[in-house]
Amino acid sequence: MNDVIPGQNYVDGQWLGGASGSWLSVVNPATEEIVARVPDSDGQDVDHAVRAARAAWGTWRWLNPSVRARYLHAAADEIAAAETPMATAITREMGKPLGEARGEVKKLAKAFHFYAEEATRSTGVIIPNEEDGFTSLVEKEPIGVVGAISPWNYPVELIGWKLAASLGAGCTIVVKPSEYTPTSAIELFRCLDRAEVPSGVANLVTGTGRTGHALVGHPDINKVAFTGSEATGAAIVKAIQGVKPMSMELGGNCPLIVTAHADLDAAVTGALRRSFRNAGQICIAINRAYVHTTLYEEFVSRLAKAADGLLVADGLENESADIGPVSNAGVMDKVERHVKDARTRGARILCGDDRVLGRERGYFLQPTVLADCTQNMLVMHEETFGPIIGVAPYEDLDDAVERANSTSAGLAAYVYSADVHEVFSLGRRLDFGNVAVNNVDAGIINAPYGGRKGSGYGSEHGREGLDGYLQTKHVRVRHGG
Ligand code: NAD
Repeated sequence: MNDVIPGQNYVDGQWLGGASGSWLSVVNPATEEIVARVPDSDGQDVDHAVRAARAAWGTWRWLNPSVRARYLHAAADEIAAAETPMATAITREMGKPLGEARGEVKKLAKAFHFYAEEATRSTGVIIPNEEDGFTSLVEKEPIGVVGAISPWNYPVELIGWKLAASLGAGCTIVVKPSEYTPTSAIELFRCLDRAEVPSGVANLVTGTGRTGHALVGHPDINKVAFTGSEATGAAIVKAIQGVKPMSMELGGNCPLIVTAHADLDAAVTGALRRSFRNAGQICIAINRAYVHTTLYEEFVSRLAKAADGLLVADGLENESADIGPVSNAGVMDKVERHVKDARTRGARILCGDDRVLGRERGYFLQPTVLADCTQNMLVMHEETFGPIIGVAPYEDLDDAVERANSTSAGLAAYVYSADVHEVFSLGRRLDFGNVAVNNVDAGIINAPYGGRKGSGYGSEHGREGLDGYLQTKHVRVRHGG
């Protein structure tokens, strides 16, 4: 039995227990043991945090952007220095291998440096008027207090994009992390504390969806920044009081098209990485692939062989594991449902399909490649969020595009083709917020990232990520002359 780590909320610069005295348990998915407990925060805790953020906004909003940038750079340095405890917390509570968790922490530090710099580059415009003696100034102002809610698959990065961009813009924030991954969020807020970010500017309340519901429904929140499932996004839209801006980064069900002109080696390598990294628990994971009939059999057999060779293991015990356990029992259930559905409807299971043998405990799944899939199979039209991919052959590229675009998902799509006409036409015809061509890494910090259709709206990353926390004001000045 291991020690259970106690966690606390961070409100107005203080580490606090929850008002109700109730606690939530955090489970290590590799061992199914309870590893931490954190406050199950209620409406009173949320109200305390929102009031602290509102009070702090009165000063934070007027700070010179270069001063806010200094705090963000300092926080980035603290995050980099805390790589080991933060990465360990991530692996312990959601299972990704330690090496991958370290990578997430490095990218988090980079995001803080990026938004420190963007904060100092937020500019307005001056517009000449038709009438002499008038000038129009268009300025950007921070929106106010942000309520941010995040999922568990990238537990610190998905908080970090909201946190760094909103603080850089001059907003203050209350963060509600996933109930599955609160301890890595606590490590992140320790870094803000050490960076001496002023009290109340950034606040953390742990809890379940009930806590999130209290946060988004709080009347003194000016913007909701949400990443999570489409169903929760829809519930949040209903719970909002009044009219307020929102960003919604929701689920995917991302297609890959491999055309007859693709580099097969590169396509297999890309599919392997983007289907199984983080055990497929990535909103931009490749869930389904459409492969031209001339390459189809070679593609599926090579992909299955490569997937079979991935090392599935406890990522804390074995830092070089390719895949850790999936994060919770809900993911296990959904993967099993999708595999069973595909098998019943006639898919060929080329590898995977079962729990990793030899382990009595832990949510370990083998990467699974399903061939000969049809569009009516769940894996081809519903987000799995686990280590499986469905593959289907196609003859006609128009048909592949139609099938790729046919679901409600609009987050990311992938293409492998060496034909320049196909590259440009597919880049435009695929109805997704991000299209990666001949690579599978569209999410870079200095370009906008966001979905459309059922995958939500608004952007994170890039200048657009900062703009989401700013509002525009027109000041028309009559100065004569
Ligand atoms: P989820 O929607 O179940 O939970 C997300 C967060 O919402 C959690 O913190 C949860 O406590 C909170 N929540 C639940 N009910 C709520 C309510 N009624 N009001 C307010 N908050 C509530 O999602 P999850 O299982 O944690 O994460 C997986 C999902 O997130 C997948 O669909 C995945 O695609 C999506 N995701 C999207 C992106 C993106 O950038 N588009 C990135 C990562 C994950």
